[in-house]
Amino acid sequence: MNPTETASLIQEFKQTYGHAPVVIARAPGRVEFIGNHTDYNGGAVLGAAIDRYVWVAASPNPQGRLRLFSANGPAVLELPADPGTKVTGSDAWANYPLGVWRSLKDFGLPRPEGFDLFVSSNLPAGAGLSSSAALELAVALALLAVAGQDGLAPDQLAKLGRHAENHYVGVPCGILDQGTSAHGKLGHLVHIDCRGPVFSVVPFPSSAHLWIFNTREKHALIDGMYATRNRECLDAAKTLGVALLADLTPAQLAPLESKLAPEVAQRAKHIVGEHARVHETASALEKGDLSAVGKLLTASHRSSQHLFENSTRALDDLVDLLEKHPKVYGARLTGGGFGGAVMALTQDDFSEKDAAEISQNYSAHHGGAPEVIHLQSADGAQIIWRG
Ligand code: ADP
Ligand code: MG
Repeated sequence: MNPTETASLIQEFKQTYGHAPVVIARAPGRVEFIGNHTDYNGGAVLGAAIDRYVWVAASPNPQGRLRLFSANGPAVLELPADPGTKVTGSDAWANYPLGVWRSLKDFGLPRPEGFDLFVSSNLPAGAGLSSSAALELAVALALLAVAGQDGLAPDQLAKLGRHAENHYVGVPCGILDQGTSAHGKLGHLVHIDCRGPVFSVVPFPSSAHLWIFNTREKHALIDGMYATRNRECLDAAKTLGVALLADLTPAQLAPLESKLAPEVAQRAKHIVGEHARVHETASALEKGDLSAVGKLLTASHRSSQHLFENSTRALDDLVDLLEKHPKVYGARLTGGGFGGAVMALTQDDFSEKDAAEISQNYSAHHGGAPEVIHLQSADGAQIIWRG
């Protein structure tokens, strides 16, 4: 955020609450770079913290009230005390900050008795870029600062945000979203070994660009399909006598495949192959070999398409179009699948015009144009201003 943007946030806070904030925190969204459905199989995933953010400005509230405002919402929500239950209706977004505030207590961390919060964002909500985790982490850092604590170790911050989302919002998300937003580093991707979880970073050159093509389609049975894949994977591990599928290498799985029903063998092959691809991608990034990285991304998509069967016609068509483009290294569906978005890794001369051509080509066969978002890597959640 440049100084003018900080100034305008302070100004808006003052107009809303009649006094100045004491702190502004910022947290980035994230993209699942590679590592599809590996998290609950004990595998690894690479996430990119992206240059789209949620900002939270905050101050204490001397009357002990909880006041929340989002530039996305209609009005200030004011609560005299912890409502104890979930907020419903158009103020339901408040469950994220309230969940964080409650989680601070669960974690034995300091929290203000009352607070005034102002949320601003350039991260589209519900587009698969994890605005929810960014909101949680920015709120956590802002509230800790109001209570006198300067920052929190990224591992703890991620754990706190996930706890808020799992327990107080009721979304059973894994650690990718909060882990990537907390550990993000400009010029890097975040590597997560989900079993720990253990976090590290791998270099990601500034010449590499990410483009999201969001189809906005969502399979009607998405929750059920996700649960089926989850069960298939856990059952396959059990049949093969391992705790989780990521315990196997592709070479170890090959002679065992016949023990599984053909469809389940395909699911297992995807997970084991994907876990290996994350490792290969990290090695290729260490060497700065973006062509190799691109091939691994597209291979990940083909594995989703043919083995895990969590892709769609729309996603496949986008990947086909992108794969042919000379300035694209590779492309894959990002996130759970069964709809959603494709991520492309491109050279730095891939332009808005190139993206528009891909979109037009896609729309000719699919009706509506995809939402296109251009992204680069970014730093993780942090305090960016103190009063
Ligand atoms: P994603 O995390 O992929 O963006 P989610 O459904 O997990 O999608 O989270 C989106 C929800 O997070 C929104 O419906 C809203 O409740 C909350 N949210 C995200 N950004 C903001 C914001 N700037 N202001 C208020 N609420 C937000
Ligand atoms: Mg989310």
